[in-house]
Amino acid sequence: MIEKRLCLACGSEGKLVYKDCTDFFCGTTGVYDYLECPNCKLLWVFHQPTDEELAELYEQYYDETLMAPEVGELGRSPKDLIRELILHAYKGYPLKRVSLPKFLAKSLGLGLGLIPPVFNRSIYGLGLTFPDCVSGGKLLEIGCGRGWFLKIMKNWGWKAIGVETNPASARFGREKFGVEILEGQLEEQNFPDNSFDFIVMRHVFEHVSDPVKILEECKRILKPGGALALAMPNGKSLGSRWFGKYWRGLTPPWHLHLFNPKSLKILLEESGYQNVKVRTLSFPAHWIYTSSKKVQAGTFKQSDSPTSCWWFHFLEKGLNAFFGNLGEELEAIAYKRNS
Ligand SMILES: [Zn+2]
Repeated sequence: MIEKRLCLACGSEGKLVYKDCTDFFCGTTGVYDYLECPNCKLLWVFHQPTDEELAELYEQYYDETLMAPEVGELGRSPKDLIRELILHAYKGYPLKRVSLPKFLAKSLGLGLGLIPPVFNRSIYGLGLTFPDCVSGGKLLEIGCGRGWFLKIMKNWGWKAIGVETNPASARFGREKFGVEILEGQLEEQNFPDNSFDFIVMRHVFEHVSDPVKILEECKRILKPGGALALAMPNGKSLGSRWFGKYWRGLTPPWHLHLFNPKSLKILLEESGYQNVKVRTLSFPAHWIYTSSKKVQAGTFKQSDSPTSCWWFHFLEKGLNAFFGNLGEELEAIAYKRNS
């Protein structure tokens, strides 16, 4: 175990907030305390497992809750055509299946994209982690799991590569989706400097034992002007404030650091990224509430399908529209300097 007393974002000394947290997610033994930064409110596991201990722990890790949007080949269904129009208008992807005059296609895409649920569906619910088009672009996903994100990006013309520590997930992705997935840790891959236009970590950053080091490595392998996009639970969401140590997003000991908009922005800027944008979203609030209730009652099981609590969902959505930092999902995009 490594004792971590100082906030890795701003350097302040953490205060003990949650004691004796246990692994409700996979049921491994062990008791963990969480510290919180009095300044930027980052939450982290006080005594963190070493890399060797983590590797051993991860042999007992499983996640049945991994949800993937439908991933198939693109066709000419109305849904695919609407998606193409919107991605063309908002993200710069070329028109391949829609045969309309350019001006008309763009206007239609812009109009359709003004309807929030339609826009969200067209980017597969991926928010800031859905990249703008880069012609001939190279994309890296760290912790790609079974590779569905890579498959989507490959469909949209990206040369997409994934890195995954779980060999079974990596194999599944290669076989099922035909995508390139390298096994092991990011640093073991020895990618050359300036390799990628877009790097993404979806629900991975909170698992990383040394976020500073991984941000450094991402900066090295990003091309100048390239983007890093992150999605993770928001450690200062309404759910986190409501349920405290029983919040579903805490997930001890797997989530080693729980960032919030402030702490994540500080860390990305301190790490030399520029044009950092962070935001929070409430789309998971309805099941975070019911799952947290179960964690509190000691009845949480991964295999149970999550139920929904809509009053909490809309309460959070409303408050988040007003305050802007209470959503359960935290997203960030940041860029490497151009020179
Ligand atoms: Zn801090």
